[in-house]
Amino acid sequence: MAFDLVVRGDLVLGDRVLEGGWVGVAGGVIQAIGQGAPPAAADVADHRGMLVFPGLVDGHMHTSSALGWPGIEGASRTAAAGGVTTCVDMPYDVPRPVTDAKILAEKIQVVNATSHVDMALYGTIRKDGGVEEIAGLAAAGVCSFKLSTYEYDAVRFPRIDHTTMEAAFREIAKTGLMVGIHNEDQEIVEGAIAAAKATGRTDPIMHARTRPPLCETMADLAIFEMALETGAHVHIAHSSLARGFDLAEMFRRQGAKTSGEACIQYLCMTEEDLVGLQGFGKCNPPFRTADEVERVWQSLAEGKIAYVSTDHAPWPRAKKEYHGDIFACGAGLRGCRASRR
Ligand SMILES: [Zn+2]
Repeated sequence: MAFDLVVRGDLVLGDRVLEGGWVGVAGGVIQAIGQGAPPAAADVADHRGMLVFPGLVDGHMHTSSALGWPGIEGASRTAAAGGVTTCVDMPYDVPRPVTDAKILAEKIQVVNATSHVDMALYGTIRKDGGVEEIAGLAAAGVCSFKLSTYEYDAVRFPRIDHTTMEAAFREIAKTGLMVGIHNEDQEIVEGAIAAAKATGRTDPIMHARTRPPLCETMADLAIFEMALETGAHVHIAHSSLARGFDLAEMFRRQGAKTSGEACIQYLCMTEEDLVGLQGFGKCNPPFRTADEVERVWQSLAEGKIAYVSTDHAPWPRAKKEYHGDIFACGAGLRGCRASRR
């Protein structure tokens, strides 16, 4: 076969690294891989001595939380520069989250016109309901649903009360799709922030202190109990704690469909980084202790983590700058920022 392109290097395969390998491409499709002397090709990309990865999937991004759908173009270009060939995008878009099939169809058009990589799209429901739109969203092609136990914004990113959430889980279970949950307990966070402010503590570390591990695990337990009850596949959208993955495993043993995802920052960053980065290190859930980071690595090594994502959620610089009140800064990181040359 005549190849248009041969890529040479050490190929990262599912089960091993093929040293001195090659990938043969024709018609834009990988036709063959091999080892040793490569076949003839119109073009050769010679990366010998370096690793050649498959295209990566970033399972959790927010390309449109700050700019709306125009954010898709830049975020997907950044993803491509970092080797990500599929972005999985969350539904919490401004000004309209993806809450029905009509909005989804409009977003798909924008994705097709502007995205540099493949995209899979989540759907969601409104704070005041919209459970009846779930079947239509599934039929129109959403890959999963996202709901939250914590409210950032009543329209863009609302807290869904337990009654509505249970009804949504029952409806989502019928579709066979997963529902990812932003897992923080609203009462614990709000109480802790009020107490911190009352004592004049608004410095960066207080972001982590006011979202203690208990605020995650309380939310995990609530959503997993509902998973067990409804049969829905309920997934922690990001656990910063090894215990989140242990709880998912415990509920699986009891017959529930439960899973959890980590983000790169929960494997690489600690509370000390929050002190240095200030608002630029603010994300939810927050960075944890160095000991907890070690435990999350252990969970990964033990195969308890479904996948690792970025939770890429960029904000304009002014919204991340710290001026003495960490609670005033936007939450979200530029998780898939590519290096600049
Ligand atoms: Zn997120």
